Amino acid sequence: MEHQVAPFDAARVRAEFPALGLTVHGKPLVYLDNAATAQKPRAVIDAVERYYESENSNVHRGVHHLSQVATQGYERARDKVRDFIGAGAREEIIWTAGTTEAINIVARSFVRPRVKAGDEVLLTEMEHHSNIVPWQMLRDELGIVIKVAPIDDDGALDMDAFEALISDRTRFISVVHISNSLGTINPVERIIALAKARKIPILLDGAQTVPHAPVDVQALDCDFYAFSGHKMFGPTGVGVLYGRRELLEQMEPWQGGGDMIQHVTFEKTIYNDLPYRFEAGTPNIAGTIGLGAAIDWLAGIDHAAALAHENDLLEHATRELSQIGGLRLIGTAANKAAVVSFVLAHAHAHDVGQIVDSEGVAVRVGHHCTQPVMQHFGVPATARASFAFYNTHEDVERLVAAVRRVAEMFA
Ligand code: PMP
Repeated sequence: MEHQVAPFDAARVRAEFPALGLTVHGKPLVYLDNAATAQKPRAVIDAVERYYESENSNVHRGVHHLSQVATQGYERARDKVRDFIGAGAREEIIWTAGTTEAINIVARSFVRPRVKAGDEVLLTEMEHHSNIVPWQMLRDELGIVIKVAPIDDDGALDMDAFEALISDRTRFISVVHISNSLGTINPVERIIALAKARKIPILLDGAQTVPHAPVDVQALDCDFYAFSGHKMFGPTGVGVLYGRRELLEQMEPWQGGGDMIQHVTFEKTIYNDLPYRFEAGTPNIAGTIGLGAAIDWLAGIDHAAALAHENDLLEHATRELSQIGGLRLIGTAANKAAVVSFVLAHAHAHDVGQIVDSEGVAVRVGHHCTQPVMQHFGVPATARASFAFYNTHEDVERLVAAVRRVAEMFA
C-alpha cells in the first residue's frame, strides 16, 4: 500500500513569515532564493529581539543574572542542535559563523597537520567554493593534491569515477550533501561507506540539506558535518561544525583568544575542553539563540509533508519551465532537491534576474559560488529558483509567467 502523506498547509506556514507578505515593485513578493538564504519566521525574529531587549550579556564570564540567562540560552541552543542532528554529545557541536567557517576549521585544524606533499583530498565537481578554496590553500602551502570526482551531464555524481579516484594517498574526503546550484542529492550513504571501508575521514557540506530534511549524523556515520543557520530559517552569521568527539579531541584550536583557554601565562596556555576550545572570542550569542528558536519552530513542521510539497513544486516548475522555447535546465539528476537552475537562449542570466524581479519574483542569477559547475555546462551563469516549503504553486505560476515574458522579449 502506498504511504499517504498529509497535504502540507503552506498558507498557514507562510503567515508566520513577515517577509513573505512584502510587496516588491508593486507586486506581492515571490521569494525563490531560498538556497541563498531562507526567510525567518516570527518565532526566530522574536527570539533575537527578546535576547537583545531583555537577555543581552556576554556568556560564560559573569556571575550576574543577565550573563547567566545569556549563557543558558546559548548553551541550550547547542543542546537543540545536538538533538536536531542526532549527535551523540553536546561537545561535538561547535558554533561557527556558518558552513564556510566550519569547513575552514576542518581544513586547518584537522587535515593540515595530517598531510604532506602528494597526499590527496577528494572533492566533487559540484562543490561550493567554500569546499574548494580551503583545500587549494592547503595545496599551495603543503603540496597536497586535490582530486575532483566528475559529474555527468545531468549534474549527478559519477560514482564509478568517484570510487576510482580514492587511492592509498587519499587522506580526506569532503563532499556536498545537496548541491546548491544543481539541486543534486548525492548518494552520501554510499560515499560514506566507501570512505569508512578505507578508514578515510569524511566531511559532508550540509548547507542545503538541513532546511529540507532531518539529518542524523550518527546514522550517517560521517566524521564532520557543516551547515549554516540562515538557510534553515535561523539568523545569519551562525552555523555549526559537528565533529566526532574523538577527532575533535585530537585537533588543535584554530584561533586563539578568550574563552578557548583554561589557563594562560606568557610562557604557556592550557586550552579549554570541547567544544569551547574552538570558540575563541565573544560568539554570536543572538545568532545561536535565534537558531535554537528556528529548531524549535521546525519541530512543529511535518517534514514528510513539507518534503512532498517541495517535490511537487519542483515537479511543477520543471514541467512548466521546460516548455518554454530556448530554455535549458542545468541540473536534471534523478535525485534532486527543489532547486531549478536554467539558462535562456539569447538572454543573459542577469537580464532574466532583473526582468523577473520587476515582476516581484526573486531568483538568484550568477555562478552560485560553483564556478566549476558553470564550466562543466559551458555557461557563465544560470538563473536559479530555489524553493522552501512555504512556497506555493501560485509562486511557481508567477515564476513561469515572468520567465516566459523574458523568453518572448529576447526571442
Ligand atoms: N555550501 C553550500 C552547498 C552552500 O549552498 C553554501 C551557501 N550558499 C555554503 C556552502 C556556504 O555557506 P555560508 O555562506 O553560510 O558559509
